[in-house]
Order: sequence, then C-alpha cells, then structure tokens
Amino acid sequence: MKKIPFITKEKAQEIAQKYPTPFYLYDEKGIRDNAKAVKEAFSWNPGFKEYFAVKATPNPYLIQIMKDYGCGCDCSSMTELMLSDAAGIKGRDIMFSSNDTPAQEYAYAARLGAIINLDDITHIEFVEGILGKLPETMSCRYNPGGVFKMSNGIMDNPGDAKYGFTTEQMFEGYRILKEKGVKNFGIHAFLASNTVSNEYYPILAKELFELAVQLEKETGADIKFINLSGGVGIPYTPDQEPNDIRAIGEGVRRVYEEVLVPAGMGDVSIYTEMGRFMMGPYGQLVTKAIHEKHTYKEYIGVDACAVNLMRPAMYGAYHHITVLGKEDAPCDHKYDVVGSLCENNDKFAIDRMLPKIDKGDYLVIHDTGAHGHAMGYNYNGKLRSAELLLKEDGNVQMIRRAETPGDYFATLDCFDIYDKLAI
Ligand SMILES: *Cc1c(COP(=O)(O)O)cnc(C)c1O
Repeated sequence: MKKIPFITKEKAQEIAQKYPTPFYLYDEKGIRDNAKAVKEAFSWNPGFKEYFAVKATPNPYLIQIMKDYGCGCDCSSMTELMLSDAAGIKGRDIMFSSNDTPAQEYAYAARLGAIINLDDITHIEFVEGILGKLPETMSCRYNPGGVFKMSNGIMDNPGDAKYGFTTEQMFEGYRILKEKGVKNFGIHAFLASNTVSNEYYPILAKELFELAVQLEKETGADIKFINLSGGVGIPYTPDQEPNDIRAIGEGVRRVYEEVLVPAGMGDVSIYTEMGRFMMGPYGQLVTKAIHEKHTYKEYIGVDACAVNLMRPAMYGAYHHITVLGKEDAPCDHKYDVVGSLCENNDKFAIDRMLPKIDKGDYLVIHDTGAHGHAMGYNYNGKLRSAELLLKEDGNVQMIRRAETPGDYFATLDCFDIYDKLAI
C-alpha cells in the first residue's frame, strides 16, 4: 500500500516556522479512528480492555486520546506508572507487566491499585515480602518455550526469551497464589513481535484459552482475564498488507467460543497491551535535508539523527521515507540518508531509491509513532526533538517540547558551571 504522509510540504513549512525540525508529528484522527476500530473489533467481549503499552509512546496527551475509547495503560517501570496515574489512568486501568522488577516499583504499583502481572514464580514470595499480603487479583506471564511459528513463516523464539513462567511453573504458581489468598487470576503471554498477520492473536488466544481451562481444572484458580499482550504489527514496508483488526477480533472470538465457552468460562475478559499497533502508523518524524555529500556513495545529511529514531541503527529496521513536495517524482536517485552522530550506523536509509533530494527539502520518516521518540537517547550530546499533535481541526499543538542544553546539563548540578548552563 502506498505510504502517504499526513502532511504536505506547505504544512511542514508552516509548522517549521514555529517548531524547528526535526520534530515528531502525531495524527489525532488516525489515532482516534484506530482506537475506535480496536474497541469495536472486541466489543463481543464485554470485559475487553486495551492497556496501551506506555513504553511505545509515553506521552500523556496521546494516552488521554486513547482513554476516550476505554484504553488503560500497560507499564513496566516506576516512571511509566507515575506518568499513567498522572494522566488520569487509575487503579485497575493500569496493568503492571514488568520483569526483573525492583521492590519499590512493586510497592508503588500496589499503592496505585494497578494489576500486577508477575514475570517469574520467585516473585510470588518477593511481592508478598514487600506488601505483606498479596493483592486479590494477580496475573502471571506465560512462556511456553520452544519456537512460535505461524503459517506465513513468521516465527519468534520464546525459548530464548527472558520472560515468563514455564508451563510447570504456571500450574505450581497458581496453586501457591491460590493458597496465599489470591481470588482473581489472569494469564498473560507475549510470544511474537510485530506480527503482520491476522493469525497471531487467534493462535496465541487458543493456546492461552486451552491453558486457562487446564489451570482452572487442576488448580481451582478462578481465571478472570486473558491478556494477549502486544505483538500485533504494522506494515513498515509498502508491500506489506496491514493487519485487519476486525478479522483479528473475529478470530479471537471464534476460538473463545470453541474453547472457553464449552468449558463454562464464557465470562473471561480479553485484555490486550498493544503499543505499536495503536500508535506506530500515526506518528511521523519530519526532518530537513541540510547537506548532500558525494564520495564513494551519495549521502543526504538530515537534521535528525539516531537519537531521534533509533530503530534503523538498532535493528536495521526499515522506515519508509517520503520527500515532501516530490511525492510523485520518480525514485531515480540512490541515497544513504544519514544523521550527524559519530557512528556509522546512524543511517535512516541505506541505498534507498528516492527522488532527487535538494538541501532544504523536508523528509517524512513514516511509522515512527511507536518505539520512536521513546527510544531516544543523548549520545554525542544530541538532544531529543519536540512531539507535536496534528489535531483533527488541522491545528498543531506541542505535546512535548524539544530538549535544550539545559536539560542535558541538568544532572551535572553538582558542578556550579554546568548548573549555570542549565538555566
Ligand atoms: C513492549 C510490550 C508491549 C507492546 O508491544 P507492541 O509490540 O508495541 O505492541 C506489550 N506488553 C509488554 C509486556 C511489552 O513489553
């Protein structure tokens, strides 16, 4: 599917007068339409809830937009918990799916009334030690081990992943939790990442539903919810077919009726913790070409770099690029599109066919709404960009300012000279 930016060259120029490039731009309409579609796709399940994975895009404005469609937050750190609570997502609307969790984070999650999803059987005692008594509602993260395969060749390797309880530990864990007074149980699993397939959730759901029936039968634990977690992907390349959330919701309903309903478990709620699917396509990184370099290859230097978007450097991830104003021009130039870090992996694209790029052109880097700005860092003393929201009425609202040198020096406040710089 052709990737179309949600701004024009003229709009980018207008925005850049007030907010210099690079900046992240999020599309409010896209976020709303998608969140509504998710809600509708699972409306057959009265208890359904999407807990947005805060780590993907930890911005309270965006979280509040999704809250309009019933979304809560999935957190895995102290500051993610704080951010969610402050954004108005309270108590059971927070899922705390952490791992290798520090004691103070469990204590804080419990104080907020969040649902605690344990990553390991040893954490039962750990949490009991911290809280004195376990909460009435608890969930455990399952890792079946081995290799997870789907018919379209997508696979992932849970056996190599650090997360979750083994199958045996699930049965033992639920028995122990029940003995210790836990009343309401959940099951969670995340078995494959960025699945561009309508099959992933239904296959995962079937596996978890069957496990739930067994767990209830053998341990007597009352399973109230099954959390399919994240992993629903987006098409980063134009040739991929986007997921159809309606088909996914229907697929989960089919296995629900096949496995849970006959077992007398037709009251189980379905939870999800999608991050990428909720936000990925609705964020774009807008950057300006500031240099062209002709050496052994053709380079376009832009004013963003890997600190603004790490995925290409970190995973070799593909992000589609559109040159604004040249949407229909032939892609007859081969470029490496690079940032300014002293790191040769600071490349947004390698050998990419694009229209001829001139200095001053605006480039849109697509599908950066999730795991984009959030993965930012400060290597080379580079600063993270602003986040802007393109509202439904066409206005632009700043929802996070760009970092300043003052932010960068703020933690050096043990030295007078930097303290002054930080003002
Ligand atoms: C990262 C993560 C998610 C979200 O994953 P996406 O691929 O962005 O949907 C959900 N749950 C947990 C526990 C995670 O770590």
